[in-house]
Amino acid sequence: MSSRRVVVAGGGAAGFFAAITCAQAAPDVEVTLLEKGPQFLSKVRISGGGRCNVTHACFQARELAAHYPRGEQALIGPFHSFQASDTVAWFEARGVKLKTEKDGRMFPTTDSSQTVIDCLLGLARAAGVKLTLNRGVESVMKRLGGGFELRLSDGETLACDRLLLATGGCRVPALGQVAVSLGHTLEPPVPSLFTFHIETPWVQELAGVSVEAAEVSVPGTGLRERGPLLLTHWGLSGPVILRLSAWGARELQGFNYQFPLLVNWLPHLSSEALVAALQSRRNAQPARLVVNTPIAPLTARLGERLARAARVPDDRRWADLSRAERHQLVQQLHRTELQVTGKSLNKDEFVTCGGVRLGEVNFKTMESRLCPGLYFAGELLDIDGLTGGFNFQAAWTTGWLAGQALSAAIN
Ligand SMILES: Cc1cc2nc3c(=O)[nH]c(=O)nc-3n(C[C@H](O)[C@H](O)[C@H](O)COP(=O)(O)OP(=O)(O)OC[C@H]3O[C@@H](n4cnc5c(N)ncnc54)[C@H](O)[C@@H]3O)c2cc1C
Repeated sequence: MSSRRVVVAGGGAAGFFAAITCAQAAPDVEVTLLEKGPQFLSKVRISGGGRCNVTHACFQARELAAHYPRGEQALIGPFHSFQASDTVAWFEARGVKLKTEKDGRMFPTTDSSQTVIDCLLGLARAAGVKLTLNRGVESVMKRLGGGFELRLSDGETLACDRLLLATGGCRVPALGQVAVSLGHTLEPPVPSLFTFHIETPWVQELAGVSVEAAEVSVPGTGLRERGPLLLTHWGLSGPVILRLSAWGARELQGFNYQFPLLVNWLPHLSSEALVAALQSRRNAQPARLVVNTPIAPLTARLGERLARAARVPDDRRWADLSRAERHQLVQQLHRTELQVTGKSLNKDEFVTCGGVRLGEVNFKTMESRLCPGLYFAGELLDIDGLTGGFNFQAAWTTGWLAGQALSAAIN
């Protein structure tokens, strides 16, 4: 065996970033990247609807770290070394210019994930990384005197001095078995970034309607989020639901994805301000039908459905709205209670909450605290971010740190 061989298990964002960083910093070291599937960077390819949401325009380490329901504390230090602005500069210096969308998501100016794939593959090849497809790491033995002996999916064995596990999220615990066999603990995997099933017919009938800023909360928990909400033919989606699902990934799994959800459709108005808005509507347009004149910025269709859900009769004019009906309307506009009956994965981006326990890893180097010579990067760790480029950012940052540390350790 080469006395200076690094093996990277996993040909995703984190594995490639680590392999390139290590090979560029230590040209004499043999860096081998093993991918068990038939394609490198398959998630990069499909990410962001094929456009690859590479990172998020959030350039302050602590503020960036606050976007990770799991991993916030652990990532503050790493983000001081390599954060979103470093990702932008890294890609730009290598010919991939990024642009920022209104909501802060950053994409290649080509709007194609292929640009990112070509960049990473080209750099890895140029740096001499040995790239192998259809070869997974099945099991790992520690060698006496240091290093590892890997058993691969094609029956071969391979020895190395240092091993980086960048094998991605453990949707099922079996995917984290190599880490466990080397002494690590897996926080149990549960999905994050999902949408809610709601069987209330009027919600489903309004599929396609969006609300720019709604507030959703789960009674009896601290879960509360505000942001864009989308009604769908199966229930509710949109950034605010994905955020709630991420922060509540474990709690909502504990409810078996069946729980009441409160929606405040007009969170910018206090109760008093809402009552005053209804009163001024009554004064200004007494002869108009309540169902036809929604409070801004609600759309006509949503306003009508909410008035009906408040049991305001279709022929009720503002002048004739009773005190009890007004109370019902206020309740409905500020506290619509819907029953969530299940979840669907969000097709644009999903991640696994859970993975290798963070306290077992040194976040200065990404080296295991339990097994010298073993490193981790990417979603295999118990780190997951909100939607919007944060998950790739964690992969770039941890991959970069691991690559630097590997090159320094072995050089
Ligand atoms: C549909 C979808 C869209 C997404 N879009 C975005 C987005 O736009 N922006 C964003 O920030 N995040 C996005 N994400 C999340 C993001 O893709 C992941 O967080 C990120 O890919 C994690 O990178 P990784 O390298 O850790 O793992 P992965 O990308 O999952 O790569 C791990 C690789 O390791 C391989 N592997 C597994 N086991 C072994 C083994 N034993 N030996 C060898 N190889 C192995 C796997 O086959 C895989 O190729 C999206 C996720 C999905 C599912």
